This record gives sequence, structure tokens and C-alpha cells, in this order.
Amino acid sequence: KLSGVFDGLAKRGALSEADVTEAMREVRLAMLDADVALPVVKDFVNKVRERAVGHEVLDSISPGQAVAKIVNDALIDALGGAGAVPLNLNAVPPVPILMVGLQGSGKTTTSGKIARRLAQRERKKVLLASLDTQRPAAQLQLAQLAERAGVASLPIIAGQTPVEIAQRAMEVGRREGYDIVILDTAGRLSIDEALMDEVRAIRAETSPAETLLVVDAMTGQDAVNTAKAFNEAVGVTGVVMTRMDGDARGGAALSMRAITGAPIKLTGSGEKLDALEEFHPERVAGRILGLGDIAGLVEKAADTLDHEESEKLALKMMQGKFDLDDYAAQIRQINKMGSISGILGMLPGMGKLKDALGDKELDTSVLTRHQAIISSMTRAERRQPSIIKASRKKRIAAGSGTTVQEINRLLKQYDAMASMMKRFSKLGVKGLMRQGLS
Ligand code: GDP
Ligand code: MG
Repeated sequence: KLSGVFDGLAKRGALSEADVTEAMREVRLAMLDADVALPVVKDFVNKVRERAVGHEVLDSISPGQAVAKIVNDALIDALGGAGAVPLNLNAVPPVPILMVGLQGSGKTTTSGKIARRLAQRERKKVLLASLDTQRPAAQLQLAQLAERAGVASLPIIAGQTPVEIAQRAMEVGRREGYDIVILDTAGRLSIDEALMDEVRAIRAETSPAETLLVVDAMTGQDAVNTAKAFNEAVGVTGVVMTRMDGDARGGAALSMRAITGAPIKLTGSGEKLDALEEFHPERVAGRILGLGDIAGLVEKAADTLDHEESEKLALKMMQGKFDLDDYAAQIRQINKMGSISGILGMLPGMGKLKDALGDKELDTSVLTRHQAIISSMTRAERRQPSIIKASRKKRIAAGSGTTVQEINRLLKQYDAMASMMKRFSKLGVKGLMRQGLS
């Protein structure tokens, strides 16, 4: 939906203040759609508008692409710039890490994930301690998690207050030579003073090197209040965004960063203990704009290809029509442009596609064989790959000098791409509807 607006700019040639305003209106809608908090959106849009209007874009071949780039760069900047920010563990051991956030945000799970990562990758001796005296099963939950993560957890003593447990955790940490003590606090369903007092007291007792605010990526506009309250009460030093594996477009990441000023250090992408990743501003920027980096993809394609072919392909992507002829056309483009992972990396939903393909990196020789396979197909087969059953596969394999297994792999890959294109088309329809309404 954004690329439509930017294409419009490109055709007009010159970039006026009105053009920028129009494009920024779309950016604003995309951001609100991605659940970025309203005040954060306003601030971002104003800043970028100034930057874009003052920018030297008149000489550029495509002013639309220049604006798209300014928006994308500004968003990456606002998300913390390129490169992940590591946990700060520079303190005298045992280094306390305090986990805060609302109930259900993923604090306990994330505590386990971080413990596992520090133990495995950095060979740290980690102690997990649950300060959650709210829910009876919470301390047990963390103990079980610790066991799965292969780290120690603080023995449970009934009747202690959270501050007393924190004291004990630090004592055990010192006495038994732990490098890291992760303090998992209780959450509430919403912010209240009792919770803030508790977190403040724990912080005063332990002086954590990191106070990590754990936030569900699905959190919408109220993310602002959560972030403000925790930041004012305890001073957040880093943010962890959980449930990035879901449908959320990640707008909360931008809100969190804008409100706390603290970097997003990690993201959670599943319930399993290894589903913890570094935060990549570029990817989330694309997600927030709702396009992946489709604008960049089209731009890059246009450099290599004649304009028409790339436009047709982009249109088909947006419409969710994508057959094996298109796949073959894409292979030609990829061969011209170089690395496939570079191209694939620009499309949203690539995580899923990569899963479907398995771990191995695609190389272009595979693509060349895919091209051969496709050219051994009939027109009907290319248009409607679902008709390719066993006997057709045998014929195609013989014709292209490949195997049925290879044809199966190609079809699987095509299916993954086609379903990704469908996701595009959904976004497109939504965008269109909104344009019709506004
Ligand atoms: P807490 O109340 O903040 O301690 O939240 P929990 O750690 O107990 O997590 C609540 C639920 O969210 C659990 O079912 C977790 O398995 C789930 N969860 C946590 N992090 C993630 C994540 O990154 N992705 C997904 N899909 N689920 C998560
Ligand atoms: Mg918990």
C-alpha cells in the first residue's frame, strides 16, 4: 500500500511539500495499523516530514524511492539504529538482572531463555530466582524452567516477601560464586502502586546491572502507560519484546524505545527456551511499515531488469497471483542480482519460508536446476502446479534430467512462496479498503 503512494510520487517527478505530506499520511496509517502508540507516531511523522522536505531529492531518479528510504532509515534510527545492543553485565559478580513487566508478558519464560543463553554461550554460572509470591505456582514454574535450561534456581522457602527472596538470592549468589542472578518479579494485570512499590524496593535492595522491561509485542496503545510507569519507577535499561513470532507488526517496539529511551535488547519468538533472538531494527522497521522491504526489492529489481517486468512481478505479488512462470522469472532476476538470501531477506515472512526450505542456504545452482525443471513442464502445469501428480513428476524429472525428489522440493518451495504472496495480497486489500474509506 505504501509503494503505491511512492510510485505516484515517482511519476510526478518533483517532490513538493504536498507530496511529502501525502506520503506521510500513508506512513502514519501504516504505523497506527502496526500499533505504534499515537503520540509516538505523531512525533515520528513530524520529524520525518521535516527531514524529507528539506532533503535533496529533486535530482534523484525517483523521488518516491527517496522518501521511502528516508522513512525507512528514520524508522531504523528510531528503533535504535543498526546493530544489536548486548546485555550489560559489567559489574562485580553476582550480576543481578531484574525482570519487570505486566503479568503474562513473558518475564518468567524470558528469564529461562536468558539464563540458558548465558550459561551455554558465555559459560556463565547462572542462578534463577522467582520473586513472584502472587501466584502460588510461579516459583515452581521457574524452578522447572531452570531445570530445562540447565541452570540452578533458588530453593523455595515459603512465606518470604519478594524483597527477602531477592536478598537471599544475592546472598546465595555471592556465597556460591554465581556470575549472574536473574530476578524474575511478579506482574499484575495492570499497573498499580503496590506493584511499583514492590519493584522499587527490590531494585533498591539489589542494584541490578540490567532492569529489563518485558513487553508482549501484541501490546497496543496502552504500551505507553506500561513503559512510562515502569521507567519512572525503576529506570528501565533494556526492553525485551516477546511474541514476535505472532502476527503483531511490532509497533510496540517503537513505542517502547521512544518512551523509555532504552534499547530493545532481545526478542522472544516462541515458547521454547531457545526462541530468543537479538533485536534487528531493520526487520522490525519493515514489519511496521507493513511491506517487508518490498520498496527496496522493487528498487533493486528495477536497477537490473527492465522496468516493466519488475512492475508486473510486484503487481502479481500484491495480487497474490504467483505461478511457476513467475517463479522462473524471479530466478532470472535473482541470478542477475546475485545473492538469493539478500533478495529473500527483503521479503516479509521469510522466517517461515526458510523453515520450509530447511536449514541449508540456497545456492544458485539449485535455482538453475529449478529453471530447467520448470522449462520441462507444460504450460498448464506452470500455471496450475497443483495438477503435478506422480506421473507428471516422473515425466518432468526425465525431461529435465533431475529427480522426483527435486521436483517435490521445488513445489514445496513454490508453495511456501505462494502462501507468502497471499499474505502480501491481504495487506494490499486492507490498504485498498482503507483508502476507499478515508
Ligand atoms: P509472565 O507472567 O510475565 O512471567 O509470563 P510467562 O513467562 O509465564 O509467559 C506467559 C505465556 O506466554 C506462557 O504461555 C509462555 O509460554 C508464553 N510466551 C512467553 N514468551 C513467548 C514468546 O516469545 N512467544 C510465544 N509465542 N509465547 C511466549
Ligand atoms: Mg512469571
